[in-house]
Amino acid sequence: MMKQPLRVNLHTHTRRCKHAQGEISDYCAEAVRQNVAVLGFSDHSPFPGGEYASTRMDFTELADYCDDIRRAREAFPDLTVLAGLEADYLPALGPSFYREVYLGEYGLDYLIGAVHFTRRAGELIWVGDITPEETELVRGCIEESIQMMENGLIAYLAHPDMALVRFRTWTPELAALYRDLMQASITFDIPLEINAYGFRKPPVQNGPESRRQYPWNPVWELAAECGVKTVIGADAHKPVDVWSNMPEVFDYSRQFGLVNYNEATAARLHPARKTADFR
Ligand SMILES: [Zn+2]
Repeated sequence: MMKQPLRVNLHTHTRRCKHAQGEISDYCAEAVRQNVAVLGFSDHSPFPGGEYASTRMDFTELADYCDDIRRAREAFPDLTVLAGLEADYLPALGPSFYREVYLGEYGLDYLIGAVHFTRRAGELIWVGDITPEETELVRGCIEESIQMMENGLIAYLAHPDMALVRFRTWTPELAALYRDLMQASITFDIPLEINAYGFRKPPVQNGPESRRQYPWNPVWELAAECGVKTVIGADAHKPVDVWSNMPEVFDYSRQFGLVNYNEATAARLHPARKTADFR
């Protein structure tokens, strides 16, 4: 009989992010119910300067977040609970902040890299609002993503196609940009995430056409062609979503022939432990 792969989800938000529901313990209880073996928490990274405050905890809450995760490890001994953050990169803080404060002082197990915001003529916008006429803004997102990979700070890169929500046509220019990202992913051995939340969000309407926000097929066709490693992240914002639609996304990824690294990525976060010890 074929061994069933362990259910590993490293992308989970809690109510501290202000746009998600539920406590750490609620997510753990649900993970046990849904046979998840490894559950990683990845609330949005709080910054001492209060950047992007509307979508994340205050920096002063980080210690409580870590305490809650420690308590959850005791309360749910059969579940491997990992402590992480989904981190936006602020060049002003520099890579040492991420290493020394998040991973050092607070002892987090991992960071997921993500680019959620960019600037249009100085004004902060969500990357999903980038229009097809603004390819140079996509380039900025790709460059920031590659920077995070180079810094060796992240376990994987979340939703690399979030900047393309409003795009309808895959152009040679986009292909060239994303090929740079794919190459960096391979060079630095940082997997790219196929994000399951994109499947749960309402489709975007652009004129008569409607499309899933992400994942966007051409990105993953290219990823398969380049031989990129992928991780599938639930990006749960409600406890039920720690696994809910994950099987659909695994099917999606298989259709491109992509190879999944959820379990291997989690195992790498605890070099001393082998995957077999998760259960
Ligand atoms: Zn995100």
